[in-house]
Amino acid sequence: MKLYLVIPCYNEEEVLSETAKRTREKLLGLIAEGKISDESRICFVDDGSKDKTWELIDSLCTADNIYCGLKLSRNKGHQNALLAGLMSVKDHCDAAISLDADLQDDIDAIDAMVDKYHDGCEVVYGVRCSRKTDKIFKRTTARAFYRLMRAMGVETVYDHADYRLMSRRALEALASFDEVNLFLRGLVPLVGFRSGVVEYERNKRFAGKSKYPLKKMFSFAFEGITSMSIKPIRLISALGFLIFIASIGMLIYSLVRHFTGNTVEGWTSIVVSVWAVGGLQLLAIGVIGEYIGKIYLETKHRPKYIIDTKLNLGENGDENGK
Ligand code: UDP
Ligand code: MG
Repeated sequence: MKLYLVIPCYNEEEVLSETAKRTREKLLGLIAEGKISDESRICFVDDGSKDKTWELIDSLCTADNIYCGLKLSRNKGHQNALLAGLMSVKDHCDAAISLDADLQDDIDAIDAMVDKYHDGCEVVYGVRCSRKTDKIFKRTTARAFYRLMRAMGVETVYDHADYRLMSRRALEALASFDEVNLFLRGLVPLVGFRSGVVEYERNKRFAGKSKYPLKKMFSFAFEGITSMSIKPIRLISALGFLIFIASIGMLIYSLVRHFTGNTVEGWTSIVVSVWAVGGLQLLAIGVIGEYIGKIYLETKHRPKYIIDTKLNLGENGDENGK
């Protein structure tokens, strides 16, 4: 089995040589054990770094052909860099593992992922067994993020970041999603196939600074919800409906007040119209939103289905229903 490691790097000159060394040792170990083929590679994706990252990748590739590199024309963000890497290696490998350049994802979990692959899993999710190394703030915000995603109807694997193994078949299927707003964590579960989970301990960043400051974390969460779910639109419709119902209650209440005679002239009509018009407007926005939501889902051109196995029907599972 040819295994490729895909590592997106953005301004990672401080950690890159250590990452290169450790992943190389890991692959050589696995090759020696006969678990993976000696044509396995480590692929670095330079996401438009402004420091010496690409020079380092370049010299690694010249020194040893276990390394390969890919340079994006400019910074496109972690998710895009990762997809670029996966899509470039998918025709060369049997399976690819994506991991961060900063050694936060424990590379010893690779063994277990490879074992699961040999057991027939097409997707293996790396899931953190604890968040001891995270600061309280990061831990609570991250947990809240997974809960919110679930409440919004986005299927994600709890405490799974982007450390995962995908077989070539799963990568082919992923390639048939051509979305621009990319949220891989939400897309991979949509690919389906048999999947497994490997637990690992998340380490501290080996060196360098996090490239995900709070602002990017928020936009990532927002991106995740708005690119995977139209539930927020539904919530608006529901709210409009509730307010409209409440306006009927207000109508009855104001009429009672009106006829019992203790209101100011004009109060009844104003109060009722404020509620009724407000509710109707929100409801109308929600209905329009519902159509926009449909347009949004259509424009994603997602595959309608992905075939796993075919019996007596020729080739296996390389067609996607687009
Ligand atoms: N990364 C990237 N492009 C970006 C930001 C980050 O390729 O625009 C890479 C980065 O080099 C690292 C991974 O994404 O390999 C995860 O980033 P980081 O470790 O900074 O995130 P954190 O672990 O703090 O969430
Ligand atoms: Mg990190």
